[in-house]
Amino acid sequence: MHKHLGVNRLFQLNAVNHLFTKVGDSSIFEYVGQVQAQLPESEGPIRVLWNVVNTQVYDYPDEVQSDAGQTFFEGATTQVLVNKYERNTEARKACIAHYGGPTCQICDFNFFDKYGSEGEGLIHVHHLKPLASIGETYQVNPTEDLIPVCPNCHAMLHRKNPPYLPKEIGAMLLKTCLDN
Ligand SMILES: [Zn+2]
Ligand SMILES: [Zn+2]
Repeated sequence: MHKHLGVNRLFQLNAVNHLFTKVGDSSIFEYVGQVQAQLPESEGPIRVLWNVVNTQVYDYPDEVQSDAGQTFFEGATTQVLVNKYERNTEARKACIAHYGGPTCQICDFNFFDKYGSEGEGLIHVHHLKPLASIGETYQVNPTEDLIPVCPNCHAMLHRKNPPYLPKEIGAMLLKTCLDN
């Protein structure tokens, strides 16, 4: 038993909790989903490994703003936390069409060229606007606010929160390319 009752409750009867995370003092909380605690790894400060069991969209209070509907999207090498704009099927289609097909705008990987029609649907789209700057009435503009990216570059973009800029990931690629 942990000395804090609140901490004990997190582990009781496989309790399902709602997890919100933030990376810095000035950043906003992002909703991860419903989670179950695995065993705590340490005491005071307590460190817990969370198992995500559900990322369904719920209506949440204002502190999570318009990014409440985040979900995990399966990437090639890791999981990417995407927001509802990146999951919007119509916006996604319009974005890919605008960029002339499933080509990653960072590394130039083209799913159709590499895998044919079987691979086409695996391109991701990345939402460029900082979620904190988006108001209630915001409508995603598929050609200005979204870019097609491959799952690898997408995972890199979301390596930090707020995400890297596409040109920053491009610069990393260029650097390792020149180094090798
Ligand atoms: Zn890429
Ligand atoms: Zn993204």
